[in-house]
Amino acid sequence: MALEVTLIKCVDAVYSDDSCQLIIIITSLTWKPGFITIYAITCCKCEKWRTIPTKEEFEVIRQNYPVEPWFCSKKRDCSCEHPEDIQYDTSRSWAIDRPNIPKAPPKTERLLIMRNDLSKMDAYYDLPNRKRAKGKPDIDRFLKENPECAPTLPLSSFNFSTPKIIKETVSESAKWVMAKRKRGSSTDSIGMYAVQCCECHKWRKVPTKDEFETIRENFIEEPWHCSKRPDCSCEDAADIEYDSSRIWVLDKPNIPKPPAGTERLVIMRGDLSKMDTYYVMPNGKRVRCTAEVDKFLEANPQYKDRFSVESFSFTTPKIVEETVSHNSVWKSGKAKKQDKINALSNNN
Ligand SMILES: [Zn+2]
Ligand SMILES: [Zn+2]
Repeated sequence: MALEVTLIKCVDAVYSDDSCQLIIIITSLTWKPGFITIYAITCCKCEKWRTIPTKEEFEVIRQNYPVEPWFCSKKRDCSCEHPEDIQYDTSRSWAIDRPNIPKAPPKTERLLIMRNDLSKMDAYYDLPNRKRAKGKPDIDRFLKENPECAPTLPLSSFNFSTPKIIKETVSESAKWVMAKRKRGSSTDSIGMYAVQCCECHKWRKVPTKDEFETIRENFIEEPWHCSKRPDCSCEDAADIEYDSSRIWVLDKPNIPKPPAGTERLVIMRGDLSKMDTYYVMPNGKRVRCTAEVDKFLEANPQYKDRFSVESFSFTTPKIVEETVSHNSVWKSGKAKKQDKINALSNNN
């Protein structure tokens, strides 16, 4: 079970200690294995969410929080005027972290791991001997076996308290992950995203599907050019060249970004003749056309204020024929078919 986003939020006190402000971890349950991969905090002045680039930085902030409150101005190139980095919604799981957790001692790492049944998170420490400590007794034992570590790893520097998960957000995003897991292969057929600069016509790779979907959404009104990417200009060599070593498909512009909690999948048919577009809905079911979206909204009216049929587009990318006919997958498929035909005719 993977957790993608961690946020600390600075709002009303929640823990029994009245002076203490709430710290929140937001986690997104994603398909890739791992733990928490994004950390964030809210500004104590404007209350906007700010992502914290590294776990280490997050741990430093948490260590002295809330004695040392956090403000946008503490983040590089940021101020309260800037739009929020990230927003609360149930496509991510949120958990409330505890303040004042000492930074993990040197040569150890503190891990927070969600249980498979999503009921609870557990805190562990990876110790210098590569063993994993699950509680203070494990640390005690380690220090007895390795007395030379005692000065740098005092028992008081370990804290096994765990964040409180926000049930609502976990169950929503979990449903979505569980459904995804059940379906097995649910990734789409796209191995790489690229966009063409409208000025120099060079192809630039787009690192993530999310980024690609953002570019595509307003592509007609906001054509893309190299300078939109940091550290890139039209002078730089193309990231990839068009050739028939890959199958190329040309996507349609201005497809709305999939609503939160849904995923848009584009899947190539086995015979490489055509692609099909699906959306995976928050309940894990696939929809193939607007009529099915309508049906979903009728059956699940709680989503009506979150998205409408207009947010879905079932258009499919256009396959560049010449890149398919040169492609080995197609060739081997064709060869297999030919083998079968040969085998059949030999049998006859
Ligand atoms: Zn602020
Ligand atoms: Zn360019």
